[in-house]
Amino acid sequence: MSAPAAMPAAPNLAGDGRTDLVGYDLAALTALFVELGEPAFRARQLYRWIYNRGATDFAAMSDLAKPLRDLLAARFRVGRPGATSVLESFDGTTKWLLRLTDGNEVECVHIPETDRGALCVSSQVGCTLSCKFCHTGTQRLVRNLTAAEILGQVMLARDRFGEWPSPVEGRRITNIVMMGMGEPLYNWDNIAAALRLAMDGEGIAISRRRITLSTAGVAPMIRRCGEELGVNLAISLHAVTDELRDVLVPLNRKYPIAELLAACRGYPGLRNARRITFEYVMLKGVNDSADEARELVRLIAGIPAKVNLIPFNPWPGAPYERSDDDTIERFAEIVRRAGYPSPVRTPRGEDIMAACGQLKSASEKMRRGATAAPPA
Ligand code: SAH
Repeated sequence: MSAPAAMPAAPNLAGDGRTDLVGYDLAALTALFVELGEPAFRARQLYRWIYNRGATDFAAMSDLAKPLRDLLAARFRVGRPGATSVLESFDGTTKWLLRLTDGNEVECVHIPETDRGALCVSSQVGCTLSCKFCHTGTQRLVRNLTAAEILGQVMLARDRFGEWPSPVEGRRITNIVMMGMGEPLYNWDNIAAALRLAMDGEGIAISRRRITLSTAGVAPMIRRCGEELGVNLAISLHAVTDELRDVLVPLNRKYPIAELLAACRGYPGLRNARRITFEYVMLKGVNDSADEARELVRLIAGIPAKVNLIPFNPWPGAPYERSDDDTIERFAEIVRRAGYPSPVRTPRGEDIMAACGQLKSASEKMRRGATAAPPA
């Protein structure tokens, strides 16, 4: 049997030797059923139990025959990442610290708003990019998450909020933002497999319009992201000159601003209703002047865009400070007058270190593992 596209590259083994089915798409489950000598159409029933109903116990899958359920239970499981802690902020933000089967840890954050909520999902253990203002960038141990580990974050959060099957109204997880730990475009295959499963209407059913992928600027992967996933794109810009961006986001030395913005201009499906979000962290006295706001507007001219200003979130030993409120407002005003919406992101979950750039797990205390992607 040749491996279907979305079958996890390495079998996702639980500690007990059973293979985890989370991460298998319908084609992979169908191939598995054929291999087991079961009618292929039954794979769809299992698919719906896993991704629509959120079932983790084969015994509950009442429309599958008992011998098949027993067979599945002996060889497979439908797992979730283990949560070592779940913290809740005074503002309602929830942060999970997840322990993966190899002992590594990642974090995942739910940010509720009045009528919706975003789940901020991690793509890697740690990050290779070493952006100077980001806590995750100081974590040395890095590996890519598997599709199952990425999707498992969404499934675990849905378990907590009882969102199986997807409620039509009042969902607490309406959006997914790939803005947690790691660089998603350095883990393309697993991100693509996980997001395809997340957006499938027969399963988890979170529309591509409600999914945003944020990248520090892996320019050559941007077109593919639009063509193959069609999700919203966010770019962590943070500086308007290569000189400064080389320092803040060292990946810029590989893909400088002009190349990055050219890739943005070519993003498939770009129009006013589907703008690119440029994220810009506000660092006191570093990148927050009125001249820089004007230069930003000049750089992105012609791109349907919105500029999300993120007040810097401090972490122990961080070499920067947050810009003053009036400096941020002055910067935003210049951008708005040029015709771009420019919301200032309210820090959420600061008391539990869950705000942008504050995520960092204890994994680095463990032995160094393989590096997932080449350093910038
Ligand atoms: N690697 C991807 C995904 C991370 S998204 C990317 O860089 O886009 C996390 C966002 O938070 C990025 O825009 C990142 O630059 C920003 N960020 C990192 N550290 C921060 C901090 N200390 N304060 C505010 N924003 C920060």
